[in-house]
Amino acid sequence: MKIGIPQEVKNNENRVALTPSGVLSLVQKGHEVYVETGAGIGSGITDDMYKESGARIVSTASEAWKQELIVKVKEPQKEEFALMQEGQLLFTYLHLAAEKEVTEALLEKKITGIAYETIQTKNDELPLLTPMSEIAGRMSVQIGVHFLEKINGGKGVLVGGVPGVNKANVMIIGGGIVGTNAAKIAIGMGANVTLLDINIQRLRELEVMFDGKIKTLASNEYNISQQVRDADLLIGAVLIPGAKAPRLVTDEMVQSMEKGSVIIDVAVDQGGSIETIDHITTHEHPIYEKHGVLHYAVANIPGAVPKTATYALTNMTLPYIERLATYGLEAYAQQNVAFSKGINTYNGHIIHEAVAKEFDKRF
Ligand code: NAD
Repeated sequence: MKIGIPQEVKNNENRVALTPSGVLSLVQKGHEVYVETGAGIGSGITDDMYKESGARIVSTASEAWKQELIVKVKEPQKEEFALMQEGQLLFTYLHLAAEKEVTEALLEKKITGIAYETIQTKNDELPLLTPMSEIAGRMSVQIGVHFLEKINGGKGVLVGGVPGVNKANVMIIGGGIVGTNAAKIAIGMGANVTLLDINIQRLRELEVMFDGKIKTLASNEYNISQQVRDADLLIGAVLIPGAKAPRLVTDEMVQSMEKGSVIIDVAVDQGGSIETIDHITTHEHPIYEKHGVLHYAVANIPGAVPKTATYALTNMTLPYIERLATYGLEAYAQQNVAFSKGINTYNGHIIHEAVAKEFDKRF
């Protein structure tokens, strides 16, 4: 199959959809890969690196978009709509429920839109979302520690303390992929870590996984309000799949925190679980202050580390790309239920149930 890799054009998006090793693997299987010049630069990948792996470098976006299968990172942007070819396969993050214009453009051009985020395995895992949660979880602590420093607006504590001085309290709500990865880094930095989840079985697993190095608590209003008061760094990491994040930390609880404490709500992409977080922030302006507490609400945290995120993403997407290119859409969708759940639009129709419902409801 002929595969096109355009340069990402979304604001501040430095990831690219395929690494040189991915190109090599596809070329070895008989596919042709057309990479737009400069597509990998943001992730530290040069045209020459792609060429050495067997890619053909094309000088314009429209040449990359001429291929049968387009693999991307983010949903097509307005300036890309005209480049889409009728009947083409498009494999990328789509988030169509929130993207009316993109949806309409895909339907009009009869694009088969396959969304990374709706590929779902038998045990309800979302394998192409997981790597971004791993990154965001690890970064949430790194970012929080930075803003806890006095020079960056925080209260001025060293997270791991020193002998004879208190360590910082890191509180994590939600012990899934984001929460577990946040805990791992916070423990490594020597913090006192408390993690709350409504799923007690998950807390059992975490207790074993971290060998008792974290305190686990059932997530309820009482426990949350007690812990928030003492938290130096609070990380929101809850998810109820398909739903808006529940509001768990109230305005009043935030007022009880010491000035200069930091809140990082990773779940802000699902609406967030902290009452005082009422808008998404950006990498350019990541922080705002309310009740003397620093709030961080960036919805695309992995965008800050493209050299890691590109590789983490393509580690997971490549097996799907290879099989899609080798077997073709229909045959692959028939043999792989997880992949078939990724198909959002086909021949001018929305065929993913949840997306269709959302579309009817919202538009
Ligand atoms: P996950 O499904 O692996 O984990 C979610 C956890 O939240 C589960 O353990 C669940 O039991 C727990 N939970 C649900 N309700 C709770 C409650 N009331 N109290 C405490 N815990 C509760 O999800 P994940 O992959 O860790 O993702 C978490 C969130 O982070 C999602 O909204 C995801 O979209 C978001 N995310 C954001 C970014 C970003 O850049 N901001 C990047 C990656 C992921």
